Amino acid sequence: MVATEAHLKTVDIIYRYEARDAPARPLPADSDAALRRLNGGNSDFAVLLDHVKDEIGIQQVIPVDPGDLGLDSNVAGAPKQRPFAAVLGCSDARVPIELIFNEGPNDLFVVRVAGNGLGMEVLGSLKYAVDHLGGTLKLIVVLGHSGCGALTTAVDVFLNPGDYLTIAAQHSIRSILDRSLIVVQASANRLHSAFGPDVTRNPGYRQALIEASIVTNAALSAYSIRQEFITYDLPGLQVVYGVYVLETREVWAPRSGDIKETGLASPPRDLAGFAAFSDAVVRSERIASYLN
Ligand SMILES: [Zn+2]
Repeated sequence: MVATEAHLKTVDIIYRYEARDAPARPLPADSDAALRRLNGGNSDFAVLLDHVKDEIGIQQVIPVDPGDLGLDSNVAGAPKQRPFAAVLGCSDARVPIELIFNEGPNDLFVVRVAGNGLGMEVLGSLKYAVDHLGGTLKLIVVLGHSGCGALTTAVDVFLNPGDYLTIAAQHSIRSILDRSLIVVQASANRLHSAFGPDVTRNPGYRQALIEASIVTNAALSAYSIRQEFITYDLPGLQVVYGVYVLETREVWAPRSGDIKETGLASPPRDLAGFAAFSDAVVRSERIASYLN
């Protein structure tokens, strides 16, 4: 990590537009390739600053096609939209979606809303992407982030139900909050069954509940999106979830049956899958670190 400003070397993240005969980066051929590209891009972004201390200056160059800005003189009119992934993320200013995945213009179809919940406009936007961008779209991603204000508020209301009165007449805020309470309740139940009823007295309980709720919210949204579009019979379209951890710049997604916790993951398929997932969440290193 960068300790002080005095030790911070120059970091350049550059979008490089160059005339080429071939595309700057070919589009992923399938959903697995799309998943590898996003995970690899996030990993490159996450480690970028780790080298700051031992090098004079570092650069991350993201090659992009001039045509995506309408700069290709051989193509008349506006550039064609061709994202390979749709991402539902939070509005939080600390989570710029393209930047954290090392992507450029025309790569991602991004929907951002506080708490990355599934309101009608969000579903409608994703439906548009699935209906109209199917030629290139291979992946739908739900991305939460650590310390999310929307889930933090839901946890605080859950822990102190009296607080709900202060937002009782604020329908716009409640529309975000109400749908989060179910994942907070489920996460609290799982923490209780894993660590016993005394877990609520642990000084890190609130933080553990917030972070468990954030990842459960992302996984549930990914599951819901898959169910929502299941009738579409879209071969090769995958839905995945993850949580961007502000402190490490990495995507975190605990999953059952796998010790791996970084990178985007597929959501559970059924109730039993969710039980195993929730167990993997509360027993993950990250959640455990709050309770120790
Ligand atoms: Zn947020």
